[in-house]
Amino acid sequence: MDSARGILSDGSKAVKIHHLIKAPENTPESISYRESWDASKPVTVYKTPEMLPDGTPCTATTVILRTKGCAWWWKSGCTFCGYFNDVREDVSVEDMFSQWEEAKRHTNDFEGCSMVKVYTSGTFFEDRENPPEWQQAVLRETSEMGLHLVIEAQAQMCTPQKIAWVAENHPGCTVAIGLEAYDDKVLRFHVNKGFSTKQWHKAVDMLRENGLRVKTYLLFKPPFMSEGDALNHTTAWLKKVAPYSDEVSVNPMNIQRNTVVDRLFRNQEYRPPWLWSLVEMIQRAHDEVTHLDCRVIVHPTAGGRTRGAHNCKQCDNEVVSAIERYSVSADIAEFTFLDCSCKSVWKSELNNDSTLPTPLGTGTRRRGEATDLARAP
Ligand code: SF4
Ligand SMILES: [Zn+2]
Repeated sequence: MDSARGILSDGSKAVKIHHLIKAPENTPESISYRESWDASKPVTVYKTPEMLPDGTPCTATTVILRTKGCAWWWKSGCTFCGYFNDVREDVSVEDMFSQWEEAKRHTNDFEGCSMVKVYTSGTFFEDRENPPEWQQAVLRETSEMGLHLVIEAQAQMCTPQKIAWVAENHPGCTVAIGLEAYDDKVLRFHVNKGFSTKQWHKAVDMLRENGLRVKTYLLFKPPFMSEGDALNHTTAWLKKVAPYSDEVSVNPMNIQRNTVVDRLFRNQEYRPPWLWSLVEMIQRAHDEVTHLDCRVIVHPTAGGRTRGAHNCKQCDNEVVSAIERYSVSADIAEFTFLDCSCKSVWKSELNNDSTLPTPLGTGTRRRGEATDLARAP
């Protein structure tokens, strides 16, 4: 059908977003990379300063496991997600238990920690991804040790039975859902998320009914979006999801290997967000969101590097540190004395993005055909 090719089509066959998104998981390089790691050891285990639900500062252990990976990714996958680099279909139940034991050995049974985050590159309680007996062991053990547990899930995997089961095995734990955007069109066409805002609301209601805490991830600057739009949209999303969340973590895009965003980035068609945009978003949303008793966290992964949120290089460290400090202190004064000459470059990009007919943005790292650049996604 011609209409499927878009108004500026060059006549070639229409391509489904699914096919554009599928990363090359079965190329010889990907297979040899995956097979080079030891499935009995977790990807990484580290400690960070954190805050308990009641606001008490504490130390948290993060355990990232090597799993069979996200069912959605094997089917299609989000445009920015490179977690599949650390997953493999043949991870066994024994491997999962041995990774968990290794995490406990490494941290001396989470000594000095009051919180543990168990990340499985997908949905923790999805049986196709992780063996149920392993899920139960992790939920029970962490509950018995008196640790606050944080796990991750996709909204459509939250079924009444599963959520009730999780709440029974570890009452009061936090379930983090990667909503990314509070906008169904962005979820579908920019992120390829696999669920809708309606499904997210349903999952949140279910978590609340079972006494579990809700953490929401938002993605700052999905692909095919200008810097100016990213700032306006994410600020609005943050204000809209805060009333339904105990915590919102806004994750500025960082370019992960072998993803759609990586392809755009390598073709100089995508620049990760400016750190100034993150500061501006926090300043615009702070009053409204803190009033709701919702904690806002922004951790710029790879902040200051070309593959993470960055400014001009000179001011990067200072601005990343202020953002990190804000995530702990929730004090807007962290940004008071920040300034740099690159701020005017960022401001003119925002101005151009909002006044010129270029939906994909006017950032300097963009190159390519003028008609492609002007084309609406
Ligand atoms: S749902 Fe999560 S783990 Fe799965 S592809 Fe998307 S971001 Fe990655
Ligand atoms: Zn600067």
